[in-house]
Amino acid sequence: MAAFQYFKHNTSKAADLLGLSEEQRTKLMTPDRVLRAELTIPLDGGGTASFPAYRVQFNNRRGPYKGGIRFHPAADEDEVSALAAMMAIKCAVVGIPFGGGKGGVSVDPKKLSHTETHALAREYVKAFAEHFGPDIDVPAPDMATNPEIMDTMLAEYERIVGHKAPAMITGKSIGNGGILGRDTATADGAIIVLRALLKDQNVDASKLRAAIQGAGNAGAQAAKLLSDMGVSITALADSQGTLVVANGINVELACSIKEKEGSVCDAGTQMGDDSQILGTEAVITEPVEILVPAALEEQIHQGNAKDVKAGIVLEIANGPTTPEADEILAAQGVAVVPDVLANAGGVTVSYFEWLQNRSGETWTALQTSDRLEEIMNDAYRDVADFALFRGVTLREAAYALALSRILEE
Ligand code: NAD
Repeated sequence: MAAFQYFKHNTSKAADLLGLSEEQRTKLMTPDRVLRAELTIPLDGGGTASFPAYRVQFNNRRGPYKGGIRFHPAADEDEVSALAAMMAIKCAVVGIPFGGGKGGVSVDPKKLSHTETHALAREYVKAFAEHFGPDIDVPAPDMATNPEIMDTMLAEYERIVGHKAPAMITGKSIGNGGILGRDTATADGAIIVLRALLKDQNVDASKLRAAIQGAGNAGAQAAKLLSDMGVSITALADSQGTLVVANGINVELACSIKEKEGSVCDAGTQMGDDSQILGTEAVITEPVEILVPAALEEQIHQGNAKDVKAGIVLEIANGPTTPEADEILAAQGVAVVPDVLANAGGVTVSYFEWLQNRSGETWTALQTSDRLEEIMNDAYRDVADFALFRGVTLREAAYALALSRILEE
């Protein structure tokens, strides 16, 4: 199923719960605007190259369109539209005043030099500048884009409009109006939600094991936070394979070895005799209580869902569970904390950056973490109560709550 079909599937189920009309459903599933451009940049070795680019403005009923820009070969209209739609849902789930947007350039970023990457960033802003602005559409980093690229995009935007506008984009470098804590916000938010769920279940974290797929920005930080909570991380996977240590992985060591050698699997020999290296998919079915997909989409599917042993799936990745797998997990009584709640800490702290830029204030790391804690806890409570009251899954509850909030505006 293509990415946008997942969104439609989840939205339809929630619309059924809310008893929405055909007209309301169509409105909620149709982007406001799909912008396309062909970006041409000079190449270092001479000549030029062109790349298709997209900005999808899905829905701004709750506030300016909000969502990252990715540089990735698979970025296309379907994928960018699905991600834009999910941003609208995500912002409504955590109750921040943004709508949904997303951008993408279909390019292999590994084939571009630093100069070419920044030229592409400037061309992207030139192509869509009239549609951006602090009250219109506020982009951010996503796959293969980073604070440095956001700084370049902001400089290009300010050059075009002729005035300062730091709140036009988030995820900037700290010296350029970025916010402390954005780099860890996604995992921080996910762990706040997990702690609230464990409290509801009356479960002691120190007796639990976790398997984590992905040791990048979000996965590595989640592994460290879980480990700090006393959870034993018995499996940690990256694109090279799954490191399994029955007595628990030394997460700091595994991540520092990944940084030096390229993979957590390179840490195997230093984790004792009981360490094993398995294939990348093995992490999904490891015998643990908590499974954290934090890498790619569609990792829990019809073929492996029935073998998931975890009782909790914390979706840090976007779209890691297919609709078929969702049904299998629900039938097995697994609590799936959906992506639109679990990974919403990132956009929440982006909202703080936007607020900071608009007010001219500088937030401390403590202000950010306190406010994030409050927002994520409130969002979890709303979703969990709705799920309990209506007898539905956390994903159905999150979508239904979000749709009702979007329709309220
Ligand atoms: P990242 O690129 O920093 O890390 C991705 C990790 O996944 C890497 O460790 C990579 O080795 C691993 N990986 C790739 N293929 C794999 C495979 N087949 N099996 C196991 N591991 C594999 O990315 P990130 O920023 O940590 O994002 C991870 C996920 O979280 C993505 O789905 C992203 O959309 C989602 N997300 C991230 C943020 C954020 O703020 N970083 C916010 C919202 C959602």
